[in-house]
Amino acid sequence: MAQTPRVTDPILQDGDRSLEGGLRPKSLNEFVGQDGLRENLRILVEAATARDEPLEHILLSGPPGLGKTTLATLLAGEMGTRLVVTSGPALERAADLVGILTGLPPKGILFVDEIHRLSRTIEEYLYPAMEDQRLDILLDRGPSARSVRLKLHPFTLVGATTRSGRLSAPLRSRFGFVGRVDFYNIVELMKIVERSARILQCPLEGEVAEELAKRGRGTPRIVNRLLRRVRDYAQVRGTGDVDKHTVLQACELLQVGEDGLHEMDRKILETIIVKFSGGPVGLNTLAACLGEEPDTIEEVHEPFLLQEGYIERTPRGREAAVRAYQALGIDAKLKPKPPGLFT
Ligand code: ADP
Repeated sequence: MAQTPRVTDPILQDGDRSLEGGLRPKSLNEFVGQDGLRENLRILVEAATARDEPLEHILLSGPPGLGKTTLATLLAGEMGTRLVVTSGPALERAADLVGILTGLPPKGILFVDEIHRLSRTIEEYLYPAMEDQRLDILLDRGPSARSVRLKLHPFTLVGATTRSGRLSAPLRSRFGFVGRVDFYNIVELMKIVERSARILQCPLEGEVAEELAKRGRGTPRIVNRLLRRVRDYAQVRGTGDVDKHTVLQACELLQVGEDGLHEMDRKILETIIVKFSGGPVGLNTLAACLGEEPDTIEEVHEPFLLQEGYIERTPRGREAAVRAYQALGIDAKLKPKPPGLFT
């Protein structure tokens, strides 16, 4: 089968995280939405502070860009302690983990992004560290091998994952609190983009915040990125003002639709409908056709398409729902009927 060239989506792509720092909320009060989770975290913080203890280990799961790193930063701020940030794939050697954990101050927070990608060896070092604040390190090999026990300061591990199902059971069971971040609604995204626009000193006119929020895929990172691209467009091709007309033109150029679908989303739906007659199609086959990693499709693109009812996940693979046909302007009658008992 001919491969479709890889689609590089300018908004969903994970390229410019370094620019996000300035837009991060500085306190839990500035953090918009996720009310239930925020309240639970507040209670954890207040209880731990009152007892003069470190926070319990916390696991945050949910799609990328919804605020997991931000929440870890805010927790460190609320606890008045230091945060050290790393990620599962970056923690390759036990020595890296030992260095980080021994360098943490009492009640310090270690944030591990993509914690489901930790190697088994590092996980095994983490268990006693999480439970008893100790590290058992093996020195030398063969007959002269000996184990050294290091005592650590009490610390908190905050893990973030886009794939909580991939976490091993022993690791998951060592978290005292497991919370989920969900997609944001339009009103919440409007508040987020209005705040970001104030910080970027780029006033939004009229209904612009709503237009951006509608296209934000329920995700603060995406709505903020869209704002920056629209600001660029206004500066280079417009008068500098971010008005509705400019937003619509910029979004057309970026191929971001009013329905929140981005270029890669449409490619996914089109591939399922046109190449696989609406599905079902397996994830690996779909990924190969799109020239994309299966993990990227599953972690970055699918959650929104599933939540908005564009696709369905069945035991036999991904299927396009009626809404996908409508979004692409294809007659939904072409959607194959599910096989009946006698067909
Ligand atoms: P994740 O770790 O889940 O991938 P981040 O915490 O890095 O997501 O958030 C991405 C960006 O979105 C941050 O720069 C932050 O400015 C913004 N953001 C996320 N959640 C919120 C929120 N609830 N309110 C305001 N801004 C947010």
